[in-house]
Amino acid sequence: MASDQRIRRRILLGTGAAGLLGAAGAAALGASANADTVETSAVEPDVDATAEWGARPPNGTNPVVTGSPDKLIVHHTVSANTGDFSREQAHFHARWVQDLHMDGNGWRDSGYNFVVSRGGWITEGTTGSLAALLDGGRFVQGIHTSGQNGQALGISNEGAYHDGAEPTAAQWESLVTLCAFACEQYGIASAEIYGHMDFNSTLCPGIFHDRLPQLREEVEAARGR
Ligand SMILES: [Zn+2]
Repeated sequence: MASDQRIRRRILLGTGAAGLLGAAGAAALGASANADTVETSAVEPDVDATAEWGARPPNGTNPVVTGSPDKLIVHHTVSANTGDFSREQAHFHARWVQDLHMDGNGWRDSGYNFVVSRGGWITEGTTGSLAALLDGGRFVQGIHTSGQNGQALGISNEGAYHDGAEPTAAQWESLVTLCAFACEQYGIASAEIYGHMDFNSTLCPGIFHDRLPQLREEVEAARGR
């Protein structure tokens, strides 16, 4: 997976950085917001947009929130822990999640902003989330954590991890890359990465919650901090 990722570095220019990162990012940048350049070291991950995995159109319009989310919330999808690490499986799984959320839950779209497959492939969930992430300064409101959807980005992981199962190395690596990039784009501190169970009564995201300290540390390192 790593070899498939385009290595791109994003240069945020001066006051433009404040615009791209939103209010939270500008505050985090502090005095340096006026510096000539702020270089991020977070790698932009490959993300397969909804059009690439054959998503259905949302049932209605996904709300777009101006500004930045203040945190990332990690989930798991409680699908089978497949040994199929292909891109096709990631796309199949993305459709499975969307069908479950739209037909099973009656939601307008896939509830997660992004999903990381066990093969390390990242798919866009809630339609519009990828374009918003690449632009920065706005995000699409997902449906993933009661009380947090208007201020948090939801990132889920293919599989079930509440019963001792472990993520694959590729999945973990892509999760770190995606979280680091999202934190950079939105000016979110690496410490502001949480698990679903921090806000709602749920076992989600299982072992990912135990590993949040490691995730925050690796995200911080991936950002070159
Ligand atoms: Zn969850």
